[in-house]
Amino acid sequence: MSKSTDIAALFDQYVMHTYAPTATLTSGSGCKVRDPDGKTYLDFTAGIAVHNVGHCHHKVVKAIQDQAATLGHCSNLFYNVNQALLAQRLSKLSLNGKCFFCNSGAEANEAMIKLARLAGHEKGKYEIITMQNSFHGRTLATIAATGQAKVQKGFDPLPIGFTYAEFNNLDSVKAAVNERTVAVMLEAVQGEGGVVPATEAFMVGVRKLCDEKGLLMLCDDVQTGMGRTGKWFGWQNFPVKPDAFTLAKALADGVPMGALVASPALSELFKPGMHASTFGGNPISSAAALAVMDVIEEEALVNRAEEAGKLFAEGLNLFVEKYKQVLEVRGLGLMVGLVLEGDAKEVVNACRDMGLLCCVAGEHVVRFLPPLNVKDNDLEEALEMVGDALEQLYGETEEA
Ligand SMILES: *Cc1c(COP(=O)(O)O)cnc(C)c1O
Repeated sequence: MSKSTDIAALFDQYVMHTYAPTATLTSGSGCKVRDPDGKTYLDFTAGIAVHNVGHCHHKVVKAIQDQAATLGHCSNLFYNVNQALLAQRLSKLSLNGKCFFCNSGAEANEAMIKLARLAGHEKGKYEIITMQNSFHGRTLATIAATGQAKVQKGFDPLPIGFTYAEFNNLDSVKAAVNERTVAVMLEAVQGEGGVVPATEAFMVGVRKLCDEKGLLMLCDDVQTGMGRTGKWFGWQNFPVKPDAFTLAKALADGVPMGALVASPALSELFKPGMHASTFGGNPISSAAALAVMDVIEEEALVNRAEEAGKLFAEGLNLFVEKYKQVLEVRGLGLMVGLVLEGDAKEVVNACRDMGLLCCVAGEHVVRFLPPLNVKDNDLEEALEMVGDALEQLYGETEEA
């Protein structure tokens, strides 16, 4: 069982076909990953915005190994120091309240939705306004929160209590407010929806609307969090503070972990017995997250994301000038989208054949999510491969 074709065949026979994997990976280091046949790729997916510190960072590996050999799991029947230290660090960097830990982005959003409902319960308010083209996860409540029909199809009846507004259109959000509304939930940069950053006017307008109407502003920072956008948290790119936000993808570098981070007032609403997770915040995932935060600080990766993001976007912009099929570069920090007229998948496939892994975000957007400690020469190498892929696909029809 050592060749990629054998592994793929076994996988396809026994793993449900919810995914369509396109390569087999066996090891990784920094920005590079290898397949079983010896091919090396430059990984600009980073496990979908998970490995912000790169694959197998020695500090994170050591933290996981040490904790696994000391106390792996103890449940939340008992205190564990790592969870407390992690909650302190996340709170101090953001809302100065408290945290709840779980295992994934969807689960963190479920916790945030439950918390918002609890806040509105006495007044009979439960409806949450979310955005068209948003993405909040794959559980029943989070597909109901997700403003995309394609993730909901076939799974109705969905939980009630969600209504949709147009992203970056404040009037549309205003029009969706009614006497049942308890919160507005949004991403600072829509990830799965096509790498679309919020405008400052929209974020500020939503905050103001929430203040005026007594609503909660909830940010889904699952993809944008942990330095990815050039700030610790995506919403920090704007002069606003949400009442609560969620984290997951990069939080514990691939050890499954999600977090709900809330303001001091909201943090007091959950009482013992109201919400729980067996694995949530266990000593290993918390140790991994603490090591991730150490590395982000020591290597100044929040600033690096901003700087490297600019460099990479500048390089990609040359392709916008060169090919009429390449429309726009957008994003924030190292969350970068290349917007195409045609199918993004064919560019992703051509890049993979060249040795660069990237992914799609919707039909027309190629999404790049490299580790934040990506080197300048890796960026250059990636740009060359994107250039070769575009040349191969669009070169003949190029108008000089
Ligand atoms: C990935 C993602 C989720 C879902 O996270 P899972 O860990 O897959 O449940 C939710 N929200 C956003 C913005 C995401 O990018």
